Amino acid sequence: MLYQRSSALFREAQKYIPGGVNSPVRAFKSVGGVPIFMKSAKGAYLLDVDNNKYIDYINSWGPMILGHTHPIVLNAVTEQLKNGFSFGTPTELETEIAKLIIESVSGIDKIRMVNSGTEACMSAIRLARGFTAKNKIIKFEGCYHGHSDAFLIKAGSGAATFGNPNSPGVTQGTAQDTLLAVYNDIESVKAVFENNKGEIAAVIIEPIAGNMGCIPPKKGFLENLRKLCDENKSLLIFDEVMTGFRAKLGGAQEFFNITADIITYGKVIGGGMPVGAFAARKEIMSFLSPEGPVYQAGTLSGNPIAMRAGLTTLSLLKNDLQIFDRINTTTQLLATELKNIFKEAGIKVCINQCSSMMTVFFGRLEVNNFEEASMADHNMFNKYFHYLLKNGIYLPPSGYETWFISDCIKQAEIDKTLEISRKFISYLYK
Ligand code: PMP
Repeated sequence: MLYQRSSALFREAQKYIPGGVNSPVRAFKSVGGVPIFMKSAKGAYLLDVDNNKYIDYINSWGPMILGHTHPIVLNAVTEQLKNGFSFGTPTELETEIAKLIIESVSGIDKIRMVNSGTEACMSAIRLARGFTAKNKIIKFEGCYHGHSDAFLIKAGSGAATFGNPNSPGVTQGTAQDTLLAVYNDIESVKAVFENNKGEIAAVIIEPIAGNMGCIPPKKGFLENLRKLCDENKSLLIFDEVMTGFRAKLGGAQEFFNITADIITYGKVIGGGMPVGAFAARKEIMSFLSPEGPVYQAGTLSGNPIAMRAGLTTLSLLKNDLQIFDRINTTTQLLATELKNIFKEAGIKVCINQCSSMMTVFFGRLEVNNFEEASMADHNMFNKYFHYLLKNGIYLPPSGYETWFISDCIKQAEIDKTLEISRKFISYLYK
């Protein structure tokens, strides 16, 4: 494959945009090489500016669960555009999408729309602090909840990829209110509660971790977390930015049958437009401005184009509930077959899969937390990434990220991925 135009565009972009990208992990820093500039996408495929076509296993980092440019969503957005792009006033659409989400998810009565997952999580902890009148929060090493200051403490995703989890610019004052625990280790959470009695406003967690690669919660871990939060009168926040309307219609809550106190959303609920949201039961949400004292706002929040894309996507999901089993089964099939291929070749690998998310960790038999994810063979992942890229398969450009499977990934795409993975092994041993 040739990447002439991507290379030229990247050189030009670097002159005007830090690192040539508007979000760090896109820069291919971890895997090396030149990031590919895309120009269009349809169904399961991306097309780059040099006219190379790729099976897409990122799906815009999760939102494109229906595949790219779904005709019904495209039509709905096109029609909506004709009415104007933004009013800065309430619209009927906002109530419609709020109602749909609240009816689909347990334990929430009200929801507030924002423009990103970052905003959703940042606002959720402010609300939790306002509601509980406590200051500290517990987060897990390797979990990513956006780039607001309070969360850039041992964060995953790009922050893990770049090996500088504690970003300069985050003050000591902020950092001291974010306490760390180890994913899948309930004793580590208990210890933090013990040492900070009566001070913990909330525990925030990715119920299926996706930002240190895909790491599912061990059996009983989330249940125990729920119990600990109740015993300590702290709120449990599920960051469902990745898992919301992906693991199930009711998200990870439905997948694991656990109800959190506050839930944050992003990705799928915007259908590819910049949207986030946070939701909770009435008594908590009544603390939010203008009903209550906790301030939160947004010029473009509830933007009609974004709401139309989200509402149409969510309605399609709601009217075809089998989609969740379908994409979960596809992902399971891909993970199982890939594992067999590597195993037969004597390559040590751990493939974590949960719902329609998965990650290949080379050189490990198990990965249950951030430390174990760091011990994976990331050089081997980088080789695998580039081999697949060269052969028309687009994986997330870091071993610390999850793959997202869309409803457009079918047997043909799986077969090609398996075939290229077999060739990768032959290439390795050549
Ligand atoms: N929470 C989680 C679990 C995420 O995966 C992300 C982004 N990948 C965020 C929050 C932040 O969302 P955004 O990039 O839209 O700000």
